[in-house]
Amino acid sequence: MARKKEDLNLNNIVNTQFDAAARHIKLQDGLLEQIKACSNVYYMQFPVKFGKKYQMIQAWRAEHSHHRKPLKGGIRYSRMVDQDEVMALAALMTYKCAIVDVPFGGSKGGVQVQARAYSREQLEKITRRLTAELIRKDFIGPGINVPAPDYGTGEREMAWIADTYDAFHPGDLDNMACVTGKPITQGGIRGRTEATGRGVVYALRELFRQPKELKRCKLAGSLEGKTVSVQGLGNVGYHAARILHEEDGAKIVAVGEWDGTIYNPKGIDIPALERHRKKTGSILGFPGTKKLGRPGDCLEVECDVLIPAALENQITQDNMKKIRCKVVAEAANGPTTPRAEAELTKRGILVLPDIFMNSGGVTVSYFEWTKNLSHLRYGRLEKRVDQAKLENLVASLENLVGHKFPKKKRQELIAGTDERDLVNSGLEETMICAFQEILEIRNRTKNVNDMRTAAYICAIQKVARGYLELGVFP
Ligand code: NAD
Repeated sequence: MARKKEDLNLNNIVNTQFDAAARHIKLQDGLLEQIKACSNVYYMQFPVKFGKKYQMIQAWRAEHSHHRKPLKGGIRYSRMVDQDEVMALAALMTYKCAIVDVPFGGSKGGVQVQARAYSREQLEKITRRLTAELIRKDFIGPGINVPAPDYGTGEREMAWIADTYDAFHPGDLDNMACVTGKPITQGGIRGRTEATGRGVVYALRELFRQPKELKRCKLAGSLEGKTVSVQGLGNVGYHAARILHEEDGAKIVAVGEWDGTIYNPKGIDIPALERHRKKTGSILGFPGTKKLGRPGDCLEVECDVLIPAALENQITQDNMKKIRCKVVAEAANGPTTPRAEAELTKRGILVLPDIFMNSGGVTVSYFEWTKNLSHLRYGRLEKRVDQAKLENLVASLENLVGHKFPKKKRQELIAGTDERDLVNSGLEETMICAFQEILEIRNRTKNVNDMRTAAYICAIQKVARGYLELGVFP
């Protein structure tokens, strides 16, 4: 009998995953339905004039849950984006904020354009017009709804959004907190650009501190020398791959982009690859690598850790039998379908779910938002006090050992804590705590043997608490 075609609608997939977890939770009537549903969606169509011609742009902003305020979620620029996708991504935002204890409701935006098909000026026009539309309907504001970067957008777009919002609200002190992921000079925070990728690495490091988990997926030791394949060398994929390569000594054996996959079993130098891409416009042709047939080949390469960091529905029933990794670290949203995940789990492959793995971005966005509201850079008050204390300590140690430490070592020892250190420390703590919480839920919940269901249980319980605290469900 022919197999039923797999449902690739991300909204249906997220709801299926929610239902699988909800089965294990008892809540009062109506509360589960409220948590699952998307509260409201704003659909926009607006004209933008390029030269002598008008182009109609379609966009959405979905608000999934108002149990905490403001709502938070990125803005995606993609040709494929539609209302269902934005609703699903908004739901994922609610769940991931809950998992990492970031006090926001979930939201997401999408603009149906392929960013690389437009010039800088055209993208600026689209972004400023989009912001005006969001302002018009109260879908943006420091206490209402706070966008961030996502697929196809980055700090440049966030700066345009902040600037447009500021122009519409002259004199409001907190304007910069209307969006996160901004450049440092426009109220951004050090460490935000790499936060999602760095969060993925912190989560993987925690996995490698769990011997029982490693054994389950036939791994051992540390990340050093482990082989990694990455799909999508964008913001998330690039920083995850770079940090694994530079700080953990992992071997990035394959990188896939929209125009092809490159492979080198000895490992690819990621910063050098990025320089090559900037120069030539493609990852292809990077010296020492061989090109594999199709872009999706990066998913089928034999490796220890596979990091899908591009888009949803990449590991499906079509390729699930060809996946040859031990861990799937879901940096992208929704890269694995439920059917494929069941197959991978059956084969002992550990799937670390998106709602946990890519929550580093919103975690550091939260730090940026609080920084904007406090109007004070992290570390500004304590850095010199720290330094003076460390200086004293180092001088005492030098007295004890009877000689001065080398200049470079000394500088390292007395360096005070700055904003980047604090951000990374907060991010690391967040990812470790969330990993342990999800693992603990999985281990204690009868009939749950995957990390995704455990992560959803964790999220649902916390969102439920939010609604109960509001008194919505007495
Ligand atoms: P990005 O636009 O910076 O990068 C995406 C990369 O994927 C681009 O380099 C693009 O060329 C590449 N790509 C496109 N199609 C591809 C294909 N078929 N095969 C291989 N590569 C392909 O986007 P991003 O911000 O890195 O987001 C990537 C994923 O991570 C998305 O699912 C997004 O929702 C998720 N995410 C991003 C953030 C963030 O902070 N940026 C936070 C959480 C989740």
